[in-house]
Amino acid sequence: MTVPPGSTIGIIGGGQLGRMLSMAAARLGYKCHIFDPHEHPPAADVAALFTRAAYDDRAALERFAAQVDVATFEFVNLPVEPLTVLGDKLRPGTRSLAVAQDRASEKEFIERCGGRVAPWRTVECLEEVEAAVAEVGTPLVLKTRRYGYDGKGQAWIRSPDEARGAWEKIGAEPAVAEAGVNFVAEFSVIVARWEHGGRAFWDSPENEHGDGILRRSTVPCGDLVAAQLTEAREAALHVAEALGHVGVLTVEFFAGAEGPLVNEIAPRVHNSGHWTIEGSVTSQFEQHVRAICGLPPGATDLIGAGAVMDNLIGDEVNRWPELVADAGAHVHIYGKGEPSPGRKMGHVTRVESAQPVRGTGEH
Ligand code: AMP
Repeated sequence: MTVPPGSTIGIIGGGQLGRMLSMAAARLGYKCHIFDPHEHPPAADVAALFTRAAYDDRAALERFAAQVDVATFEFVNLPVEPLTVLGDKLRPGTRSLAVAQDRASEKEFIERCGGRVAPWRTVECLEEVEAAVAEVGTPLVLKTRRYGYDGKGQAWIRSPDEARGAWEKIGAEPAVAEAGVNFVAEFSVIVARWEHGGRAFWDSPENEHGDGILRRSTVPCGDLVAAQLTEAREAALHVAEALGHVGVLTVEFFAGAEGPLVNEIAPRVHNSGHWTIEGSVTSQFEQHVRAICGLPPGATDLIGAGAVMDNLIGDEVNRWPELVADAGAHVHIYGKGEPSPGRKMGHVTRVESAQPVRGTGEH
């Protein structure tokens, strides 16, 4: 199915990812229609149409389905069943969402696809948390199976006596207990996949987190990560293929002595790929539009020698006067209004050297 320029792309979720998708789609001549329950979602400012409705509002989703030529999502914690009204118009499909929404099904799926994850157990009560501590050891991190993001819904257990406190901290909800990984670096594989199996990778960024939130992504990666990329890309591609995924998919990894271990899958464009807007020939956002609309892949080579992307979290966005005065900084502000602690308000990308250099992007 080719969806030609001039068509309307529906985007479920109106956050910054939907905003950057809309901007990339507009450049290719598409109109976007945002579906989001909030009053002023950041993506609606740059899109042609906006439906304000709850994600499980079937009647609103049916009207939306009739008004769009193809639909995608930028937010993963969506009720899956109501989305079935979109049928084949939804790209990627609901399978990608369902697997990534539950940390236990995600890990089982990754392992079935040949990817490796840190030792883990599902836990449903304090006794099971204590049993996981005894079997897996500490440090151990509890993560709620659903609705966790940016380090939310997580608690560390550094010694057995912390089990109860951690279980209470995550709200005594069904969770996974996962061994703490002694990683040297974190990185992601960002891959776009087309309906009939075409795929494109970008250079893999090394990612630095603080308090569970991405702070910085840097390309190209260092030698340790580079040595683990073949295995990591293979695992990411197996996941994308097994899901029948269409569009961009991101897999986050820990790089350490044991090789690449998968942390998690995001079945969508990702914060660690924001550098591609200025740092790569084709951005992750444009490529996602190309993949879901059945257009050919764009090149993913680096534009310069590399790029560094820094998130603007909370009131860091108030530094904008200094940032826009820096001629080498590409400043992105998401138009979210008042900053609050931990909220992603914008990002800044600096591309290193204007000399075109062939990176390890592949298409
Ligand atoms: P997540 O929300 O699962 O992506 O976790 C956010 C961040 O917490 C990760 O990017 C890591 O920096 C850290 N983290 C999560 N799980 C582990 C783990 N098993 N071992 C070490 N660090 C972790």
